[in-house]
Amino acid sequence: MSNVPKSIIEQLKRIQNEFLWNGSNPKIKYNTLSLDFKNGGLKNVDVDKKIISLRCSWVRKMYDNTCHDWKIIPSFLVKKYLGENFQFHSNLHFRNSMIQNIPSFYKEILKDWKQFFSSFTAIPSCILSQHLWYNRFIKVDNLGICFSKFAARNVNNVIDLFASNGKVKTWRLLKNEFDLSNDMYFQWMQIINAIPKQWKEKLLENASGNPINIVFKEHHIIKNSRIVSLNKLISKEIYNYLITEKFDKPTSQKYFENLFNDQNLKWELIYTLPRKITKDSYTRNFQYKILNNILYLNKKLYLFGKVETPLCSYCMLYDESIIHLFWNCVYVKNLWQQLQLYFNDDFKLPDLTLQTAIFGFWNSKDYDNEIFQLINHLLLIFKINIYKARDKKSYRIK
Ligand SMILES: [Zn+2]
Repeated sequence: MSNVPKSIIEQLKRIQNEFLWNGSNPKIKYNTLSLDFKNGGLKNVDVDKKIISLRCSWVRKMYDNTCHDWKIIPSFLVKKYLGENFQFHSNLHFRNSMIQNIPSFYKEILKDWKQFFSSFTAIPSCILSQHLWYNRFIKVDNLGICFSKFAARNVNNVIDLFASNGKVKTWRLLKNEFDLSNDMYFQWMQIINAIPKQWKEKLLENASGNPINIVFKEHHIIKNSRIVSLNKLISKEIYNYLITEKFDKPTSQKYFENLFNDQNLKWELIYTLPRKITKDSYTRNFQYKILNNILYLNKKLYLFGKVETPLCSYCMLYDESIIHLFWNCVYVKNLWQQLQLYFNDDFKLPDLTLQTAIFGFWNSKDYDNEIFQLINHLLLIFKINIYKARDKKSYRIK
């Protein structure tokens, strides 16, 4: 994993693209596809992030308590170039020139870590746990600092500088507690000035009541405002971190939120519904396309020059869009009514609304109920049949 050649990465991505889109232009963003099902993704492996996470998982192995010969060289190098008390925390900031003499394997890890682990938080326990050195939030002359005299005296985290009343410890107090010498006074002033104002205010505010949960002085990162110990950072964990860190809402969500004028749709339920009611991958994908607004019907196909009319294959009166085909079209409405009648003796098939026609009956208190699943299953099969049967008619107008 040290240096995967670019050509290999590109080849892997090409294979993915071939599989997902038959080699044509992707219709859903790469970032969206790599999300979990409940967030609108397909758990598609993000090749770059996978490689980064495998590479970065090396850090945990490096700092676990086992002794291995391979650790001698990297620990020596890290100490030499970044200091005795260096930690892989989540807000690293240092000049790349500092590590230019380190072999490329370790250099890449340091660079990746610096680039991909970043977390600003206003939670007091997270602020207090921050490692002081090479921290992007604690900068002097726009650069992360490392004052080795302080590090040697075990002043390494924000908590070391603050008293329990949330105020900065006085110089005299700090000096006595950590046995510092007077010539360190100026650097102490620099550190204190460099700590973000927002952190100081938060700590002061917090001291009046809320207890500080956990302060972590050991190796850790901060993830979604939670402290995660380094020994938990296996590659899978890092990968999930990278995938969810910059979580982009799928573009189609905005479209549907506007369409239904509803900002409180429970997307998790909407996305997982098709996975709950069928195991068939075609059926699941069909609904996935609808949810991502990429089920192409005559209206769009006409724009692409693929069919000769944008009109609905059934009524031939209106543009054929998802909304029209599954909801507005009289033919389709009529067909659903017939289905309702057909099942009438066994169970009640609900009326369709614009939203249920597109999403399914997700918003129901009977979500886990078997009949409910059957109804949703029927609706999905109904839509697939409507979709498939239109093929025979779509070229009817010449
Ligand atoms: Zn129609």
